[in-house]
Amino acid sequence: MDLNHILFHLGEARETYFNAISPPIIQSSNFAFQDIQSFRTAITNEMQNHIYTRGNNPTVAILRKKVAALEQAEDALVFSSGSAAIGAAVLANVKAGAHVVCVQSPYSWTYKLLHSFLARFDVSHTFVDGTDLASIEAAIQEHTTLLYLESPNSITFELQDLAACAQLAKKHGIVTAIDNSYASPIYQNPIALGIDIVIHSGTKYLNGHSDVVVGVVCSSKAMIQKIFDQEYMILGAIVSPSDAALVIRGLRTLPLRMQRSFESCQKIVAFLEQHPKVEKLIYPFAKSFPQYELAQRQMRGAGGLFSILLKVDKIEQVEAFFDRLQHFAFAVSWGGHESLVLPFCALYNIPGRDAPSIPWNLLRFYIGLEDPDWLIADLAQALEVL
Ligand SMILES: *Cc1c(COP(=O)(O)O)cnc(C)c1O
Repeated sequence: MDLNHILFHLGEARETYFNAISPPIIQSSNFAFQDIQSFRTAITNEMQNHIYTRGNNPTVAILRKKVAALEQAEDALVFSSGSAAIGAAVLANVKAGAHVVCVQSPYSWTYKLLHSFLARFDVSHTFVDGTDLASIEAAIQEHTTLLYLESPNSITFELQDLAACAQLAKKHGIVTAIDNSYASPIYQNPIALGIDIVIHSGTKYLNGHSDVVVGVVCSSKAMIQKIFDQEYMILGAIVSPSDAALVIRGLRTLPLRMQRSFESCQKIVAFLEQHPKVEKLIYPFAKSFPQYELAQRQMRGAGGLFSILLKVDKIEQVEAFFDRLQHFAFAVSWGGHESLVLPFCALYNIPGRDAPSIPWNLLRFYIGLEDPDWLIADLAQALEVL
């Protein structure tokens, strides 16, 4: 489907709301019926009909249509966070005794979902090196029901060969799911490569303005109905109509924002790659990236996230570099208008907390919509301290 049609027309039945260009926010929890028979008909399909907003809301429904089409999926559900979307998609595909194969170092709350939460319900897991297809295959057991991918991840950016993973999973009768937040639907469409379920933290690129926490699951009609009938309706992690309207607005500029973030990021990466104080730069579209070929093959672009490791001896030097940065906000998350830095040294030396597996000289950057030269000038002056 044409991207222009998806972003500017799909799902927007303007004639039903005064031909308004911007869709109305239907801020209503419930919907009234004229008679018994129309209720009887409606209740047979809570996902499509207007009964109660935990199940279906007209504003949210517009967003569902758009994100499904963006991922070339038959249908989609929108959740109140990416984490809720991940939880629902995973829960729908396991039961007691089941086993999940998951890439190592997924998003932190995905790790906790498998490692501590699902372990309570007798669902086991194996974390594997997703860069190696043989490791994935070797981890598959008799009771494996789900292969969970995140390609690339959002700190060190390891990829999985999605077409090969999809083929492998089909051979073993396993469902595949991927967290596609990094690439966004603009730069990678896993369903076209054979993956069953695509998940996004819409908090990042889809909304893109750092003002909404939202998640989406895209899949076949049958899978979406299955998730709707249990996890979606029971756990009730729905997005509000007003937040859905903000995400619809955010989507209007998704291709523009992705392009800007990607182009600026490439410029900044080129500057940092040359710099003598940068020991290593990790970015899927950098020639030095170990899986560069695969990235080029399955992604159309790489967006604005990358990491660097500084060439330093002491954590204080990283802190000194960080202290001199002025144009990057220090915050978790990414995908908004603003450029960010996440220095992993900040997770060291916290009383009562183990040091992370990520080295202290790693800083994860997100490039937003500012002028890249303005950001480069800031990085250059901060690097002078080293
Ligand atoms: C932020 C993030 C999530 C979680 O999404 P929320 O919207 O914060 O719940 C999941 N996966 C990745 C890769 C993320 O960056």
